Amino acid sequence: MTKAMMDDPRRIREENPFESMMERFDRAAQLLNLNPDLYAVMRVPSREIKVYVPVRMDSGRIEVFEGFRVQHNFARGPAKGGIRYAPDVHIDEVRALAAWMTWKCAVVNVPFGGGKGGVICDPMQMSIGELERLTRRYAAELIDFIGPERDVPAPDMNTNEQTMAWIMDTFSMHARHTVTAVVTGKPVELGGSRGRREATGRGLLFVINEAIKRFKLSPPNTRVVVQGSGNVGGIGARLLHEAGYKVVAISDIFGGIYNPDGIDIPAALAHLQQTRSLQEFPNVEHVSNSELLELECDVLAPCATENQIRSENAGRIKCRILAEGANGPTTANADKILHNNGVFVIPDILANAGGVTVSYFEWVQDRMGYFWKEEVVNERLSDVMVASFNDVVKYAENHNVDTRTAAYMLAIDRVAYDTRMRGIYA
Ligand code: GLU
Repeated sequence: MTKAMMDDPRRIREENPFESMMERFDRAAQLLNLNPDLYAVMRVPSREIKVYVPVRMDSGRIEVFEGFRVQHNFARGPAKGGIRYAPDVHIDEVRALAAWMTWKCAVVNVPFGGGKGGVICDPMQMSIGELERLTRRYAAELIDFIGPERDVPAPDMNTNEQTMAWIMDTFSMHARHTVTAVVTGKPVELGGSRGRREATGRGLLFVINEAIKRFKLSPPNTRVVVQGSGNVGGIGARLLHEAGYKVVAISDIFGGIYNPDGIDIPAALAHLQQTRSLQEFPNVEHVSNSELLELECDVLAPCATENQIRSENAGRIKCRILAEGANGPTTANADKILHNNGVFVIPDILANAGGVTVSYFEWVQDRMGYFWKEEVVNERLSDVMVASFNDVVKYAENHNVDTRTAAYMLAIDRVAYDTRMRGIYA
């Protein structure tokens, strides 16, 4: 892309995740004929917290990082959503991600609102000690706003079980007793749920299993392209491979690998772990991350980051099913193109909801102090994902709308109902 293209205001607008989210929200609200008072309340976040986080770096100097937590909606329960660490975290992105959590939790009908956090930092350049101090001070700054009944963070990009353990410990130190349910995605030994680590990838597998039935496909004759190889893409690809799917491409941040006969995914992931890249993996073609999206396949699963499918490349997407493992991988402008080309979309707020569904199970288990076997977790996850998939598809058919609009309408309708029943404290 040339510099002029990068700076094009239309492109910047298209790639603003909050605008993308709002466009879908407005369309769904209009189709639902949403009451203007409810619209006014639901279109904005409930609360946005901005913090400046001083961290003692290994050099001995203090560096101050900027962080956010957006609590989008509480109508159905405590705010819920991950925390991401990245150099390009932006308030509009966190706002969109928080709203997506509200709609996601409503689509799968778990009793949470939506929230999201972000810290502007470059975790690749930070030591483990610096990350721990950053996490603890960020958590301490949010102490009055988070908690099992208020807002329950979880991992997201560049945060993990260790990050959650630090937050849980920091919160517990201030509370003077251990509060496991303040975060989800913790290590199993510290009150985490079995199956949580794989939950987003497993949820993706469950909805893909449902979607291929509509195309009379079975796993061995379904070619899948996965963008990403982290907690969603990597685990998703492994589970799809184990379920007999032909995963023909997968990528990391440097680019993708492709073999039309299928890739040995466990071997590719082992290679990635050893060399930190897929680039030297043998017997494959190398493609860029954008070329990967345009490969011939049955299922395309973008599991990396936002804005991968835009108006500019949507026309070249060749999959039959788009299963959005990432949050916001498709811009609102690209929706129309995919729809006109007959792509069956499993929207992000459904496709990647397995993670927050098992987060809900983790929160429940923490509060009971009684932990379930992995089979129980996976079976309950399957029940939720299959039922939600069918709810969305039925809604789309009954209202003659595309599946993304259906998912938004279903979610907004649920949040609107609860808001109306509670009444607006105005
Ligand atoms: N970060 C994940 C998401 O975007 C999980 C959130 C959670 O479990 O609260 O859905």
